[in-house]
Amino acid sequence: LEYYFQQIEDHKHLNAFNEVFFLSAKKQAALVQEKIDNQTAGRLAGMVIGIKDNICYQDHLVTASSRMLENFVAPYSATVVERLLAEDAIIIGRLNCDEFAMGGSNETSYFGPVRNAADPERVAGGSSGGSAVAVQADMCLATLGTDTGGSVRQPAAFCGCIGLKPTYGRISRFGVIAYASSFDQVGTITSSIDDAALLLEVLAGPDEKDSTVSDAAVPAYSEALNRPQKQKIAVLQETLDSKALDPEIRTAILNGIETLKADGHEVEYVSFDLLDYLVPAYYVLTAAEASSNLSRYDGVHYGYRNKEAKDLNQLYKLSRAEGFGPEVKRRIMLGTFILSAGYYDAYYQKAQKVRRLIRDKIENLLSQYDAILLPVTPTPAFKIGAHIKDPLVMYMEDIFTVLASLSGVPAISLPLGNNEAGLPLSVQVLAGHFNESALLNLSNRFLNSLS
Ligand code: GLN
Repeated sequence: LEYYFQQIEDHKHLNAFNEVFFLSAKKQAALVQEKIDNQTAGRLAGMVIGIKDNICYQDHLVTASSRMLENFVAPYSATVVERLLAEDAIIIGRLNCDEFAMGGSNETSYFGPVRNAADPERVAGGSSGGSAVAVQADMCLATLGTDTGGSVRQPAAFCGCIGLKPTYGRISRFGVIAYASSFDQVGTITSSIDDAALLLEVLAGPDEKDSTVSDAAVPAYSEALNRPQKQKIAVLQETLDSKALDPEIRTAILNGIETLKADGHEVEYVSFDLLDYLVPAYYVLTAAEASSNLSRYDGVHYGYRNKEAKDLNQLYKLSRAEGFGPEVKRRIMLGTFILSAGYYDAYYQKAQKVRRLIRDKIENLLSQYDAILLPVTPTPAFKIGAHIKDPLVMYMEDIFTVLASLSGVPAISLPLGNNEAGLPLSVQVLAGHFNESALLNLSNRFLNSLS
């Protein structure tokens, strides 16, 4: 713990932590030490973990990196936090992120952008930017993030870490601040597959406080990692052909494919012709859900309240106008428009149908193949400020990550080393619903072959 405190101090300029829990972490460490001495320690004994600042930890601030919740203290802990603590992990602090997890560069945070440790002039990715940089710069062993449309996988990719988004319904979201509920998931950022597997084992499984969690049995993910298993892998041709794809990422992925083949996996190129519909469907649906979820921040129930308002309407208006940042407002307005009487059928309903088509297509592919391979991001980490003025350009960055989010299937981003400028490159792998075992097995053996 002392080592990580020092690391955090030495990397302050990266702005990864919104708060370090010095007191509660030390207290937990002492408890865990006692248990270790008595040989009663849990499966995560001594694992030092950071949590994204949209996950509730009782009696600690939780802000979603928003002015709206700047002084909000969590009245209870998220199920994921309780599960970490029950297995004797130590929670070291809360990590900077995009405001309400809306963004892909960590630049919408009320507390300023997170900087990439590979090049502090560049973004960490988002929305779980702090979660990625904390692992990248060894400020803790592993972190929790949330992934609605790529927020675990994309920053992990920009920072050379492993980002796992499990199947929708695998991990409880109780106590996680909602953005778009039919997409939101908790995921992990780690530097090894072993850690990802162990964490998933602890975090996954039914929760009486979240009815969207599946009660499917939780396999012993860690035990499946080294089993020799030949897989049939589909590469989405259009994603590699995409003009937007950085040539160095393409080359790294093609080399990765050769490694997979050399290891005895069967790799085939397949067509995926719905690429153009991913980003529009994702943003229509998530904006709609966000506008509904964020209606609770009214200046009365939670968080920021304007002090000068003369009546209730003004209180709502001023509190929301001052409490939310521009990206959150853009999405609330867009979502409200999409859900309004005259446009619901044209946008929301239509996007739901497109989502179904995408999901059917992916499920169909995953009935013929064990895994699907595609890039995580079109480019390596971009410069801070490069896209912030053009939301559409920023949204297009999500083209490869929202596929798994629209379909609900598990997905992982895996590091492929750095480009010449020292920026991390990566590849994404998807597997069938609740087939994290196969996904982790393939990932583990692939990363071992690469190194
Ligand atoms: N960049 C995407 C968005 O802004 C993903 C965010 C997320 O997964 N939380 O919606």
